[in-house]
Amino acid sequence: MKSILFFLLLIIFNFQSMAQKNIPFQFGNKSVVWTNVFENKYSNVLFLNVHEDEQTSIEAIIKVSAERELNFWQLKHDSTRRISFKDNKHNMSFDPNRMFTFKGRYKTLKDGGKFTFRSNKLVKLLAEEVVSTLSSFETVVALHNNTDVNYSIKSYAEGGDEAENTSAIHISPTWDADDFIYTTDYDLFLAFKTLDLNVIYQNDKKFVNDGSLSVYCGLNNIPYVNIETQLGHLEEQIKLINLVLDVLKEK
Ligand SMILES: [Zn+2]
Repeated sequence: MKSILFFLLLIIFNFQSMAQKNIPFQFGNKSVVWTNVFENKYSNVLFLNVHEDEQTSIEAIIKVSAERELNFWQLKHDSTRRISFKDNKHNMSFDPNRMFTFKGRYKTLKDGGKFTFRSNKLVKLLAEEVVSTLSSFETVVALHNNTDVNYSIKSYAEGGDEAENTSAIHISPTWDADDFIYTTDYDLFLAFKTLDLNVIYQNDKKFVNDGSLSVYCGLNNIPYVNIETQLGHLEEQIKLINLVLDVLKEK
């Protein structure tokens, strides 16, 4: 009897240590989970994905995690960029990388069908949960993929659509223009520039408040890195993740 009890306790203990942290949210009829996929208590770096359709970035971090222990959190819902839901018969949606300021939430909910204070409150709760996760780490590394042919590091150069957000830029002659790093930390910018990566340093005085995580981190002095590659550029994204870990002196 005693040994059966011991084995039962062992099983329960093991399940608990293996359990993922899942934080559930409800938006009208839609369930969303903010989930801790990988955990390394000894690392101060947090990797995260908020656009579930950007599958290359998710594949890349899973591949890297087989070699290096890391922290990775992800938003899970419908494998789409926007989170869509029905509330009080209204069809609504928002971009989770526009939810971190009121201005961003107002615009993205309006673009998604309708802004209401009730939906703003719900979206704000999710944003606050993501932000509270950041507080346990020193550096935040967001993973993104792009598909827009008009969007690349060149968008951040003089005369480009995103030029307003740029303080400094290095365009590599060897890397594809769609594969780049965006950071709010000047020392990290210099380190990535030395490695001849495509890199943008976000303007620290004025930037467009679109409610994205880079804006939130910029406003709150949190070192933030975005590793952005073209969808399908798996090898490039794996290489960039490894280089970022090297620069941050992670194992
Ligand atoms: Zn994205």
